[in-house]
Amino acid sequence: MGNHFQFMQLQRLDPKKVGAEERKTNFNEIYGSFSKDDAAAQADRCLACGNPYCEWKCPVHNYIPDWLKLVAEGHVLQAAELSHKTNSLPEICGRVCPQDRLCEGACTLNEGGFGGVTIGSVEKYITDTAFAQGWRPDMSKVQATGKKVAIVGAGPAGLGCADILVRNGVKPIVFDKHPEIGGLLTFGIPGFKLEKEVVQKRRQVMEEMGVEFRLNTEIGKDIGFQTLIDEYDAVFLGMGTYNYMKGGFPGEDMDGVYEALPYLISNTNKEMGYASDCIDMTGKKVVVLGGGDTAMDCNRTAIRQNAAQVICAYRRDEDNMPGSKREVANAKEEGVRFLFNRQPVEIVGNGKVEGIKVVTTQMGAADEKGRRRAEVVAGSEEVIAADAVIIAFGFQPSPAPWFAEFGIRVDDWGRVKAPEKARYKFQTTNEKVFAGGDMVRGSDLVVTAVFEGRNAAEGILDYLKV
Ligand code: SF4
Repeated sequence: MGNHFQFMQLQRLDPKKVGAEERKTNFNEIYGSFSKDDAAAQADRCLACGNPYCEWKCPVHNYIPDWLKLVAEGHVLQAAELSHKTNSLPEICGRVCPQDRLCEGACTLNEGGFGGVTIGSVEKYITDTAFAQGWRPDMSKVQATGKKVAIVGAGPAGLGCADILVRNGVKPIVFDKHPEIGGLLTFGIPGFKLEKEVVQKRRQVMEEMGVEFRLNTEIGKDIGFQTLIDEYDAVFLGMGTYNYMKGGFPGEDMDGVYEALPYLISNTNKEMGYASDCIDMTGKKVVVLGGGDTAMDCNRTAIRQNAAQVICAYRRDEDNMPGSKREVANAKEEGVRFLFNRQPVEIVGNGKVEGIKVVTTQMGAADEKGRRRAEVVAGSEEVIAADAVIIAFGFQPSPAPWFAEFGIRVDDWGRVKAPEKARYKFQTTNEKVFAGGDMVRGSDLVVTAVFEGRNAAEGILDYLKV
């Protein structure tokens, strides 16, 4: 009896899971149904095992067991305060992190077959609940230094940097070319994964903390970079990676072939009322190429646009997909058909897409990064019929044309040189300019960009000697 009770206590408790059809239209059903009791019960499962692998696997090293304990005891506002000590966007990371390969994947409870604590859901619950109760980060002891820093890009790196600066009395002024903050959080990640109101709430909170946003303002176009150098004590660049990787096969320029990011951005712009139409897959046979989280976002967006069918073709097998397993499972449930071990070789059509020619692959020896290579099976060509093809092979750095003029050097891949281990962390080759996030490390997770933005802010504080 005792053992049975213990077993019941240890069971993983996921936020209410609803059917795929309902999920397409009502994301609050999955993201909003984690009640106070659910959060407390889930937090109470933490064994406080003394080996907080979860903390080490979390890129910002959240104090996970500590805030789980506070939630289990009902101290949600203290948990929010603690959660914000390591993470500038906890409610967002709780929603979009691939927890299965980060904190939750490292939970000791997985070893007993019980399933890890649903850490992301609790993290999200803490900040959502605290904000709803009127909690705000405590700024009462902050003393203004009189310094001000320009931040280029209101994505996760820029927001992480602004958060640390403003808490240390340095005024951050954040410039972004888009009409809302968040960068790809807002315009790249679909609303069914991250509700837009969540980012808008974060903007309000940051403005109340003293962060100033200048939106619809592109540096190098609306304001020259020289102005930032002249008028600010330092500059932080968090401009992300926006160039998409090409497949390099014939037919990529054909009508009906789309890049993942413009496709996702156009859908968001329409949903947020910034545009009246978008790239629309209604009634179309869609093939998405790629196996990462952006490919899953495209799959699931096309399904929601009522595509006639959505096929996702990926050149390795399912075990070697780079994306979150949770996202693949969601896409499958919602009706996306997966063709694994298919490598595209040509987009076919007559000026307009009619299909995609693929070859079958089999998994060979591991490459230098430990991932097994996809080897082509001779004579395996086939054509998959399609009206639209979305290419989601990932992103490359997109260095601004004015970098060279200001002595900001990039490496051979176009990533800005701004080392973490340096006298001033994340300082570029222009001493007044710092950089972090995807434009420094290459395309990566939201949470790693937050981490680098926060650390770059520490480098800036050291540089400014405040
Ligand atoms: Fe897990 Fe991401 Fe939160 Fe870290 S930030 S605890 S990895 S969900």
